[in-house]
Amino acid sequence: MSKTERKSEKILVVEDNLQNMQLVAYLLEDAGFTVLKAEDAEAARALVGESIPDLVLMDMRLPGMDGLALTKEFKARPEFSSVPIIALTAHAMRGDKERFLAGGCDGYISKPISVKTFIGEVSEFLVSGKEGADDE
Ligand code: MN
Repeated sequence: MSKTERKSEKILVVEDNLQNMQLVAYLLEDAGFTVLKAEDAEAARALVGESIPDLVLMDMRLPGMDGLALTKEFKARPEFSSVPIIALTAHAMRGDKERFLAGGCDGYISKPISVKTFIGEVSEFLVSGKEGADDE
């Protein structure tokens, strides 16, 4: 996919850690994506009230409502049926991955993110999200 084609693709990043947000946003914007930034559930809700993103990167640990609860809320909305929600998580504990997937996340990316592989991972989830949408 070329950078030009990616420009129309919006990625909502929900992340309360400023350094993580800056790195993730930098990498995504450098790859040609449009980035919507939210530091908590309330800000994320306000953004999706204006437009539905093509993919969501969701920190699981947020102040107030946590990322998994917000994922469940978004996934309950019909307009999110073909929007991949990817957990961003520092949890490497056995069982967490299963818990996030069971809670509605479509995948997960471990933090600290790998600068080398991050864009490739995000792109994979965008492609598989589209394949899923075609089946409907
Ligand atoms: Mn956090």
